[in-house]
Amino acid sequence: MNYKNPDENGYYGEFGGAFIPEMLYLNIEELQKNYLHIIESEDFQKEYQDLLKNYVGRSTPLYLAKNLSKKYNTTIYLKREDLNHTGAHKINNALGQVLLAKRLGKTRIIAETGAGQHGVATATACALLGLECIVYMGEIDIQRQAPNVARMKMLGASVVAATSGSKTLKDAVNEALRDWINHPITTHYVIGSVVGPHPFPDLVTRFQSIISKEIKEQLNEQIGKENPDYVIACVGGGSNAAGTFYHFVNEKNVNIIAAEAGGLGIESGQSAATTFLGTLGVLHGSKSLVMQTKDGQVIEPHSISAGLDYPGIGPFHAHLCKEKRAEFFSINDDEALQSAFELTRLEGIIPALESAHALAVLDKKKFNPHEIIVICLSGRGDKDMETYLKNL
Ligand SMILES: *Cc1c(COP(=O)(O)O)cnc(C)c1O
Repeated sequence: MNYKNPDENGYYGEFGGAFIPEMLYLNIEELQKNYLHIIESEDFQKEYQDLLKNYVGRSTPLYLAKNLSKKYNTTIYLKREDLNHTGAHKINNALGQVLLAKRLGKTRIIAETGAGQHGVATATACALLGLECIVYMGEIDIQRQAPNVARMKMLGASVVAATSGSKTLKDAVNEALRDWINHPITTHYVIGSVVGPHPFPDLVTRFQSIISKEIKEQLNEQIGKENPDYVIACVGGGSNAAGTFYHFVNEKNVNIIAAEAGGLGIESGQSAATTFLGTLGVLHGSKSLVMQTKDGQVIEPHSISAGLDYPGIGPFHAHLCKEKRAEFFSINDDEALQSAFELTRLEGIIPALESAHALAVLDKKKFNPHEIIVICLSGRGDKDMETYLKNL
């Protein structure tokens, strides 16, 4: 079975597709027709790979965490996406999409952001490549995430408040879609995760797949074999996880583990664990698992980490879950906090709260001493210092 890419209509099994208003057909069709031949062209790859190396700072290290390994009596490698320019994996996708937009003749970039991390990555790519950048952000998130709003403004982006609904991420997505409908010729919408209508999940997965490509090369260099026994990553929409899993999903002997945000607990009503709580539905243009009421109202999610606070999950992951190709864990806020403090004290690395959910799997599952485990450290913890200090 091929788990890597969707069929020509954008389906991973029963999940995916493109459920969009008629007014977006032109934009989506243009992307569907062009994305593969552009991003696979030699000319595109040359520019993209050069920027990943010399601007982003790739390849990121694959680090054998000896102290953490000792604590859990197994062999743990950390894929250091936290060392990328702008502090997380999101720049891999933002740069790729802005380069693609330029080749499509676009002059204007829009994006949505929740915590502001994707907004900062997109504003960074636009500053570098000389495109106008407009970032939609919920009014409440603008207040909560002042440092990232300041970064985006300094990078030259306009930050526009979404004032409808709950004034958070899903309202920002709706505003961005409205903008795109009104500017189909000039504008590309840089979606920040492996969600949205086809081809976005596949497009974003391919840009993030550099993560597992490097893991294979680096493992081969360090231990003489390409495949670990386990790869583990946290899942919000699922982009760092898709990138970490991509080159391993068709390798039967590699076990795949995804960590979702349990919030205060699956039963608490304050959670973001979509594979445990979600049902089949359509959210932001694709069919997947969605946290919703019986009559299809989206349920407000909760997680201590803003990046995992999403009521859906990419169709790639919904499919891996349904087919039992990946094992899903729900990690609660307090468990993630504890793992973040543990990594900091054992290895001198302050992880993003999102990444700490992936680390917390070490407490949930027993691994053998000789097993090789690779955990994606999706980002750094600078942005979470306020939360860490409150819980110290
Ligand atoms: C945004 C973010 C995530 C969650 O997004 P995915 O698309 O699920 O990867 C995870 N980790 C960090 C550090 C982030 O900034």
